[in-house]
Amino acid sequence: MAEHSHDHAASGHDDAPDHDHGHDHTHDHGSAPAKLTRNQTLVYGALSRAGGPLTAYTILDQLRDDGFRAPLQVYRALEKLVEFGMVHRLESLNAFVACSHPQCVDHETMAFAICEACGSVSEFADAAITRQLKGWAGNNGFALAKTTIELRGTCRSCQAAV
Ligand SMILES: [Zn+2]
Ligand SMILES: [Zn+2]
Repeated sequence: MAEHSHDHAASGHDDAPDHDHGHDHTHDHGSAPAKLTRNQTLVYGALSRAGGPLTAYTILDQLRDDGFRAPLQVYRALEKLVEFGMVHRLESLNAFVACSHPQCVDHETMAFAICEACGSVSEFADAAITRQLKGWAGNNGFALAKTTIELRGTCRSCQAAV
């Protein structure tokens, strides 16, 4: 009988939805992806299909049938894709990964949790971390351009598999 589990309004939490945040803070500065060259499209396609990080050489191997011959072709395309915010470079792996939220060009702070067992990468953004790092930079007169955080460890499914 006491089956209604929706007893919000029970406690005096005053977070009523009168905030009117709506959803109109669209990041419309880049919703349409930049116009890509053929090589950029192919490289981005390889990274998207991979669903995880790839080195430039792996990308080159995958794209040989598409006419890629030299690492420089891959690097040039990657450089642009990184610039567009569609691809991120993972320094600790010397590899590249497709952005998991490419429609959002706000990449001030990027964080990646990298599983050392299966190689999966989860990209996340955390406002509290961003705020703290910006605070430190401000207090120390450091002109912060961007932040990349790489966490190394074991993902949930690999821990479960042990
Ligand atoms: Zn991203
Ligand atoms: Zn894993």
